[in-house]
Amino acid sequence: MPYERPEKRDCPDCGVAPGRLHRPSCDVERCGHCGGQALSCDCEPSERRAYQEPWSGVWPGFEEAIEFGLFAKRSPDGLGWVCCDEDDPEAYPDLNRLAGSGEFAWDRERRRFVRN
Ligand SMILES: [Zn+2]
Ligand SMILES: [Zn+2]
Repeated sequence: MPYERPEKRDCPDCGVAPGRLHRPSCDVERCGHCGGQALSCDCEPSERRAYQEPWSGVWPGFEEAIEFGLFAKRSPDGLGWVCCDEDDPEAYPDLNRLAGSGEFAWDRERRRFVRN
């Protein structure tokens, strides 16, 4: 059974509705310039503003991870995550692999990760 796409909802941190810009200092906001977390990335504020993206209603990266078939679940020892199949009942979109593996790169014009 394919992974069920998450429902659109208000931002879990700042509470804005889908399609609206996040409130300042939102934890969830993704930087449209580098694809990192807007709160902690190294971009200049002007770069971040130029590529600011509204809240999509789905956690940043979920849609790409689902599209690329990247899934992980909590490892049995509870210390980390292990790759798994999308039909595993505990599967969760694998954002670490999306952003941290070097297999995918942020495409700032399309505001999404693409395969390298
Ligand atoms: Zn937010
Ligand atoms: Zn950035």
